[in-house]
Amino acid sequence: MNTAKKRNFSVEFFPPRSEAGKTKLNEVHRKLALLKPDFFSVTYGAGGTTKQGTKEIVLQYSNEGSTLVPHLSFGGTEDREILTLLAEYKDAGINRLVALRGDNPSGMGAAIQHRYANELVEFIRKETGETFHIEVACYPDIHPESKSYTSDVSHFKNKVSAGANSAITQYFYNPDSYFRFVDYCAGQGITIPIVPGIMPITNYANLARFSGSCGAEIPQWLDKRLTGFGDDTEGLKSFGIDVVTRLCEQLLEGGAPGLHFYSMNLASSVNQIWKNLSIKNGG
Ligand code: FAD
Repeated sequence: MNTAKKRNFSVEFFPPRSEAGKTKLNEVHRKLALLKPDFFSVTYGAGGTTKQGTKEIVLQYSNEGSTLVPHLSFGGTEDREILTLLAEYKDAGINRLVALRGDNPSGMGAAIQHRYANELVEFIRKETGETFHIEVACYPDIHPESKSYTSDVSHFKNKVSAGANSAITQYFYNPDSYFRFVDYCAGQGITIPIVPGIMPITNYANLARFSGSCGAEIPQWLDKRLTGFGDDTEGLKSFGIDVVTRLCEQLLEGGAPGLHFYSMNLASSVNQIWKNLSIKNGG
């Protein structure tokens, strides 16, 4: 890996569903903008619930001077609606996207037949050429629906062949999982930057539930330590900051091309980890 290249440090939000959530996120954005991340990305509710919310947040924070990167998926949307959205983003000066297959929101079952992310990358390239830098997702602990490690990486490679410029990983807590994955991908000819996705630890129950569904592994030692905190949320957060800071240090020391923080619309852990790492904008 080439560590001389500029590293990218970014933060992810999801669009809030209520006015109170929006007010809270405005404050979180204000605080985290002081860290000068390379960009903020905003997730896209492929099931339909937050499509409009994504655009609103992207345009608002972009107007306030931040660099914004919308997530996007077909998610049952007509191609022409995606084209309109791409045109709106282009007009607003957005030049980077995260292209995904997406998932159905829990409770919707197989309501939407999703199209694989490589199709979306192809579509964006065909319709908009090189207007957008395209990020895609990848999975060091392997996507839960994939048949094998090999097939998952081969599907990742299809996204790169379709025109993806870089990738962000699902979160993980074992740095070896990331380094092995990057090495394996390199062996398969995948040489785009693979930025680790970092999930701060703030709430054990949510983390355990989410990890179960997205296939991200919580190592047994960590799981046991976290359950031991019980109702002591402040103790858990502080321990989580130590663990995740150390993970980030190992990743950066090993040559990771940046870090992407899943903020869960919360500022304090991201803020503290960022400061512990002395991340400077410009990598
Ligand atoms: P794909 O790359 O299409 O892969 C999905 C699965 O299908 C994998 O198991 C893959 O191996 C397999 N596959 C791919 N192509 C084929 C093929 N041709 N034949 C058979 N199998 C195939 N979800 C949201 O709803 N909104 C978001 O904003 C969002 N943001 C995310 C950001 C990041 C960085 C990450 C890591 C995930 C995000 N997700 C989001 C979750 C993501 O949508 C899910 O993980 C989803 O299940 C897979 O999306 P993908 O783009 O990786 O899919």
